[in-house]
Amino acid sequence: MGNAAKGGTGLNRRAFLTGAVTATATVAGATVAKAAAPSDKNGRQDGVDFYEFHGREAFTYTQKDGNLASDGFEGSRWAMLIDLRKCVGCHACTAACKFENNIPEGSFRTWVPDVEIGTYPETRRAFLPRLCNHCDRPSCIEVCPADATWQRKDGIVVIDYDKCWGCGACVNACPYDARFINPVTKTADKCTFCAQRVDQGLLPACVETCIGGSRQFGDLNNPDDPVTRQIKSQPVQVLKPDTGNQPRVFYIDLPHQLQNNLPGRPTLWSKMFEEAGLKNPIEESEGQWKITQIPEGEAQ
Ligand code: SF4
Ligand code: SF4
Repeated sequence: MGNAAKGGTGLNRRAFLTGAVTATATVAGATVAKAAAPSDKNGRQDGVDFYEFHGREAFTYTQKDGNLASDGFEGSRWAMLIDLRKCVGCHACTAACKFENNIPEGSFRTWVPDVEIGTYPETRRAFLPRLCNHCDRPSCIEVCPADATWQRKDGIVVIDYDKCWGCGACVNACPYDARFINPVTKTADKCTFCAQRVDQGLLPACVETCIGGSRQFGDLNNPDDPVTRQIKSQPVQVLKPDTGNQPRVFYIDLPHQLQNNLPGRPTLWSKMFEEAGLKNPIEESEGQWKITQIPEGEAQ
């Protein structure tokens, strides 16, 4: 279901998606190859089969039975691939998400920080679309005292808004600052990969709207999916690879300065990293993010 839907196939998106859903059904129940856990911890899966990289046997913990797709993902395993070479920072994705999911003013399920890297005259600008990573090992689920957050068999991490009492434990437990307390519903909130659309064979609203063709959405359990093919055939990166969460939002051309230094809302995680002497070098000034202190050993 990748961006072949956007061009090159001669199919319109709905027709392509309908075909993709049918094709996906043929691989339902398929299990991915198991492999030893990787020794490389930098998360840069350059040319490495990501199934080998993330051996599924690593996915073993179940803090709360039934909350995780712990016995393996079934059917599709949805993921997003964001090609930062194509992102123009237009925020169409942000707006589409807010309309689709009725997100209140001041809150965002996806957003695109605009980051200045370096100091004049050695500067560059980067856009970093952010959202829930629908992790294979989601730390947000483990901490929920109300069993309100859980993972579907297709990997999408969702929230039962009737069960959530808005304690914010998951907000603090997410190392990607992906969650927030919805000021209207008073419950936790975050990206759902537009599950309501995916279940109808449609793309998430941000992918559908992305004018740069930067965002792609696909099925990691389908080896023929364009997204899976790209992830397996070229260098991709994930944010904060050392958290152990195993994110399922992949980036192409992610600036190394941003991989572990995320512009975003400060959470308990950020404070813990600061206490460990890993201060986030990203600073905000008048709504602009700036990274001037390049972490030691990461200078280009
Ligand atoms: Fe949970 Fe955060 Fe991972 Fe999303 S990105 S699944 S909210 S830990
Ligand atoms: Fe970037 Fe696409 Fe979002 Fe525009 S819509 S900001 S191009 S990801």
